[in-house]
Amino acid sequence: MSLFKCILCFKEIEKDSERFLIQNNKKTIFDVYVALANLEFHVYAASVYICRQSHGLLKKRNNLPQNLEELQKSMRINYATSLALFSSRKIR
Ligand SMILES: [Zn+2]
Repeated sequence: MSLFKCILCFKEIEKDSERFLIQNNKKTIFDVYVALANLEFHVYAASVYICRQSHGLLKKRNNLPQNLEELQKSMRINYATSLALFSSRKIR
């Protein structure tokens, strides 16, 4: 059994560059441990590694709330601008 299995997809992670440690002491980077704990299903601590692909999915999922907020803000501003333009044309 390999020591380099991905905690999420259980795939063997052969290349060093494709392998990330779950526990990381650097507070400034993406916290995989916290992101795994925030999933709506339990992830067993079957490995201390995560593959690049699973890491990417986890990061994407983690960024969704902020992306949604930014999209809504952008749509709100665009609508307000369009509405103001439409209203000003209507009055003339
Ligand atoms: Zn994986």
